[in-house]
Amino acid sequence: MPAPLRRAAQAILAHPPVGLFTDIDGTIAALAPRPDLAHVDRRARDTLARLAGTLAAVVVLTGRPAAEAQRMVGVDGLIYIGNHGLERLEGGRLARPAASEMATDALAAISPRLEEALRDQPGILLEPKGPLLGIHYRNAPDPAAARARILAACAALAPGSLRVAEGKQVVELQPAVAFDKGLALRAIVAERGLRGMVVLGDDRTDLEAFAAAQALRETGGCRALLVGVAGPEPLAEIAAAADYLLPDVHEVVKFLAWLADSGER
Ligand SMILES: [Mg+2]
Repeated sequence: MPAPLRRAAQAILAHPPVGLFTDIDGTIAALAPRPDLAHVDRRARDTLARLAGTLAAVVVLTGRPAAEAQRMVGVDGLIYIGNHGLERLEGGRLARPAASEMATDALAAISPRLEEALRDQPGILLEPKGPLLGIHYRNAPDPAAARARILAACAALAPGSLRVAEGKQVVELQPAVAFDKGLALRAIVAERGLRGMVVLGDDRTDLEAFAAAQALRETGGCRALLVGVAGPEPLAEIAAAADYLLPDVHEVVKFLAWLADSGER
């Protein structure tokens, strides 16, 4: 692990209470051909469990539903922020805003029509996630054409109460209300009175968490270390926004293990 990253992390740990915010896919779990094939390996889970014992908050910030994130990570004592900030699961209690329920109904109504509109486009996978609908085109023979078709279908079928967002090889329909990983991060920093945080992510929605952390750092509210993950599909925006860029999930888990060792010393 690079010495400058170690020094930056030590400077954060020296001023508790400190929180860790991490994405799942592409950050602590390798990207998989289908979302259900991705998994968080044993070493990552054990490391997060150790961190939960030493840090003031360990928060999973993911686009997956919170309950699914909890199943994947399988560590008690974490805060699971699901659906990019629309759900919060902690200590067995799930909280979600009213807009989330409305979006769930709207998506249930239009999903069959979307499926019908995209029927002749091979390699597309719809992933219903309650108030969100992921439309994956990773396995399409012509991903650019598939993306264009998906965006056109969404524009034609989605009501104004939903908005379109994009991630790596996925288009997502979401409730058109204010929620994102950054708002979720800010809420937890305030609630826990954090003085420092380490934020990890690899994709566009993680930029919201990075931006929130950076804003808090600039106003002197909280120290922050932003760690991006390149992986097989690196994003230039992540590299630009991060203080440090790790090459892959394996290096992230090594970094987290080092963080846990440092906290236990
Ligand atoms: Mg990710």
